[in-house]
Amino acid sequence: MAIVHDASARFDTTASVVVIGAGGAGATAALAARSAGADVLVLDRDAAPSGATACSSGMVPAAGTAEQTARGIADSPQRFADDIQTKANGSAYAPLVKALTEASATVLEWLTKQYGIRFELVEGVAPGHSLSRMHALADRGGATLLSSLYSALGTQGVRMESSADVTDLIVDDSQRVIGVRYKRGSKSESVACSTLILACNGFAGNRSLVAKYLPDVRALPFAGHDGSQGDAIAWGTDLDAQLADIDGFLAHGAVILAQRLPLPWSLMTEGAVQVNRDGERFVNEHEGYSESALFVLAQPGATAFMIYDERVHEIGLTMPNYATAVTSGVIKRESVLRDLADQLGINRDGLEGTIALVNALAFEDAADDFGREFRATQMLLGPYYGVPVTGALLGTEGGLATDATGRVLRKNGSPFPNLLAAGGAARGVSGDAAGGYLEGNGLLTAIVGGYIAGNTAAATQT
Ligand SMILES: Cc1cc2nc3c(=O)[nH]c(=O)nc-3n(C[C@H](O)[C@H](O)[C@H](O)COP(=O)(O)OP(=O)(O)OC[C@H]3O[C@@H](n4cnc5c(N)ncnc54)[C@H](O)[C@@H]3O)c2cc1C
Repeated sequence: MAIVHDASARFDTTASVVVIGAGGAGATAALAARSAGADVLVLDRDAAPSGATACSSGMVPAAGTAEQTARGIADSPQRFADDIQTKANGSAYAPLVKALTEASATVLEWLTKQYGIRFELVEGVAPGHSLSRMHALADRGGATLLSSLYSALGTQGVRMESSADVTDLIVDDSQRVIGVRYKRGSKSESVACSTLILACNGFAGNRSLVAKYLPDVRALPFAGHDGSQGDAIAWGTDLDAQLADIDGFLAHGAVILAQRLPLPWSLMTEGAVQVNRDGERFVNEHEGYSESALFVLAQPGATAFMIYDERVHEIGLTMPNYATAVTSGVIKRESVLRDLADQLGINRDGLEGTIALVNALAFEDAADDFGREFRATQMLLGPYYGVPVTGALLGTEGGLATDATGRVLRKNGSPFPNLLAAGGAARGVSGDAAGGYLEGNGLLTAIVGGYIAGNTAAATQT
């Protein structure tokens, strides 16, 4: 990874907007730039690009959508922004929060109307959101969302090159990016551009950068996409760009590590609990999946067990990650709790005592000492299900500081002439500390942030 200062460099080809990374941010940015008339080239180092986006549940939060209105849900960008800031303790960058929340409904409507990418409102209220605002495609999968974006790129004639590992940004004396160099197998190729969008995600897959910037979570295993190597941070650091919210991260407290598979957290909101090997609960599972990861890591063997019943299992089956876990055979089912405890290696008496207490709280619609509120409709009744999980790091939430239009900022706050960033490459809206991640922040900054950056790129191309 390097910044090469060479104003007289020659290039093999040219595109007005070059996008590095073909995940959700890159694909949406490319589509927006193309829709606004730009000639766009997307480069991704993977032979079959997928990014973290394809690993996700594909749920994009948006406020004030037609889908919400149709269900009588009165949401607004301000209410969405308030939820983001409440979770981030007020430390999310307000101009970016405003821009993303205000554009969120427009972007989903644009994808639906222009490209037939149809979002549904997901049932239920995600932790930390004050009402239902998660939107997803019918199959609730990030891979489908991404392949739909690729189809749209195809119909718009956007060029996309895979197995294209971008190594160097070529800049002139005014720090204007005039092109990029990339490796395709043993060949080195190059493209000139008038605007560059960094959409190459964060640094969660780079252990030394995690140790440097996120020492508190370096013990968490990584379960994200290997392409998150911090290339945007490396180029930005060389350019002396501003980094922001670098302490923010996205982790998950219910990951089947062998498959890098996070289980849907809605199982928790539907009534599932987490216990350790002693059968004891250790956290309010409703506080959010990201912060729960470190609690799980602190349990004996860094292992927790999700325990639930047939009703929750049936809800889980509607979600791709859960269905995958069921197919792989890791989820155990028993008619009585003691047998489930034996199968999973949990202390029997501990588990029985915990579920009895949970059901007693649910019977009274009461809260426990961790602050979780239980509901009578969610009592856990046999047959029971259980699965061992661990806490893992999925992504980073800090990155290159940008303004609200996606332009990367220098340390003095002024924007670089033609360098933009979106998605995990840029600062997110989770603020600067652990626990600031509100469900959906990742795809909000990728899909909506990508749209904003793509439009900025098209408007500023020379
Ligand atoms: C398992 C998992 C589950 C998640 N679940 C959710 C969820 O439910 N909701 C949510 O909001 N968020 C979720 N997230 C986070 C969310 O997926 C990400 O924040 C978002 O997808 C990031 O999008 P992106 O486009 O920035 O990055 P990506 O989708 O990772 O795309 C970046 C692309 O850049 C490419 N690249 C990197 N460097 C280079 C280079 N030098 N040259 C060329 N190409 C390069 C990579 O190969 C990759 O394809 C999840 C993440 C994971 C890992």
